[in-house]
Amino acid sequence: MRTLKILPVALALGAIPLSAVPQQQTTLTQVVDKIVAQEQVEVQSVRRYSPIVETYIQLLRPTKDQVGVANGDNYFLGRAELAKGLEIEPLISGTRTKHNMFSGLGNLFSTEFLPRGFLQMIYLDTNGFDRQHYKFDYVGREFLGEVRCLVFDVDPLSKNDKGRFVGRIWVEDQDYHIVRFNGGYGSRSKTNYYFNFDSWRTNAGKNEWLPAFIYSEQVDNLAVKTFRAQTRLWDYAPSHAREEQELSKVLVETPRPVEDQSEIANDYSPLEEKRAWGRQAEDNVAAKMQQLGLMAPYGEVDKVLETVVNNLEVTNNLDIQPAVRCRVLMTSTLESFTMGHTIVLSRGLVDVLPDEASLAAILAHELGHVVLGHRMGTQYAFFNRLRFDEKDTFRHFGFTHTPEEEQAATQEGIALMKNSPYKDQPGNTQLFLQALNKRSKEIPNLVSPHLGNRVATSWTIASAVSRAQPPAEKPVGNVVAALPLGGRIKVEPWNDELQMLKYKPVGALAEDEKMPFEVTPFVLYLTRQGENASTEVRGAVSMKSDRDTNTPDIKP
Ligand SMILES: [Zn+2]
Repeated sequence: MRTLKILPVALALGAIPLSAVPQQQTTLTQVVDKIVAQEQVEVQSVRRYSPIVETYIQLLRPTKDQVGVANGDNYFLGRAELAKGLEIEPLISGTRTKHNMFSGLGNLFSTEFLPRGFLQMIYLDTNGFDRQHYKFDYVGREFLGEVRCLVFDVDPLSKNDKGRFVGRIWVEDQDYHIVRFNGGYGSRSKTNYYFNFDSWRTNAGKNEWLPAFIYSEQVDNLAVKTFRAQTRLWDYAPSHAREEQELSKVLVETPRPVEDQSEIANDYSPLEEKRAWGRQAEDNVAAKMQQLGLMAPYGEVDKVLETVVNNLEVTNNLDIQPAVRCRVLMTSTLESFTMGHTIVLSRGLVDVLPDEASLAAILAHELGHVVLGHRMGTQYAFFNRLRFDEKDTFRHFGFTHTPEEEQAATQEGIALMKNSPYKDQPGNTQLFLQALNKRSKEIPNLVSPHLGNRVATSWTIASAVSRAQPPAEKPVGNVVAALPLGGRIKVEPWNDELQMLKYKPVGALAEDEKMPFEVTPFVLYLTRQGENASTEVRGAVSMKSDRDTNTPDIKP
């Protein structure tokens, strides 16, 4: 049996002078030894994985009444090979970076090393995290979500020991995994540049906790440019593991309704053939992108989007065959595109949309492409077109439309919105599009799509719907033009599944609590998977977003 039961008592006495309680001293030391040993195991076991790593950085410009607003950004997406240390194979090249944007930030922030610098924060200290190098002070117990944790302050024993972690750790009390560490890689020297971070690991079942989110920032040092950044890791499961999971799903689900086969003759009409061919191309692309960890498995969020599409179709008397489907791209950049009858929105875009009507507006534009028959190339129906190197993914796939098609889809989208249940609430949508349009120059990398077209911001739904009432220039009261990044969807890093966050509406918002398109800290709601899992609702919140919005009204 573990020492779990005696642990709280021993730790509660941790503040008593250690010489007075030799037995407790041993116990506390044992706990620290377990933590140290588990962290060494963690560092080794994480090396088995090759997750996708995404880092989004916003540089901040100080303003007179707040810390700063975004003024420039950067975006990295790649696959880390943790077996090889901090190596990342970029998936997106040619990131638009302002010249010398990071020149003040030292070597760690040269463009080449930038993604690695952020990836490093998945590790606390790979070279000497032990009692020979660190002092551990027990702080107390705290729940992170459903997971009870022991909390310690950790400091290097030697003040001259540069690059050691300084900060606080949260250790789950079943297997002594560090599940969160918050602090920095300390340095007494003022010439070296370091920043603060909050690194989270999430449970992937059994005895395994995987690095999932890192929030980092530097805002207090006036000598350098300040920034906030979010790093996300996902797609840990090796693709063969996910495929086996998929296969077992296929074996239990009936792929098509049985009556289809009894109604339809064995042969296909030319129209059916054409449709089947097109759908094959869509399925191929979606399956390939899911395999690459860039598209979430079909799930809860897709169904929410399809419900909204359905509302648009029903009120416009549309009967589109084959049925329009929705999928979600895993990335944070704001983009949407259509491949045949499959509408794809990025997670980042769904995250910042303030309400269901705004979501409907984005979907209406894409549905416009479908209605107008803007096709993607059916070359993807050939399976040889799906064999390519992962690093070429974003060069290989492209779903952009011509400016003429974009214009036409927007007009069609406006027409669809006019007949929709969303026609009476154009205000928020208009504010969202205006805010996006206005901020685009400051956050060019966030709004630059990698597969489709930019989100069209120039259309005016409000004027199309009700010319009588011009939209307000600024969001008033509790109206939020856009949510902060990560405000709506929880990502499961192990299997890439997405869930809508469930949080309660909040009261009045202060002006600085509206954070459109902003990078904000994460506060995860940690849970245990598998047999240890609780059956309670799972969720995670991006910090402040729990009180940031009273409009979480995108519902399944
Ligand atoms: Zn479009």
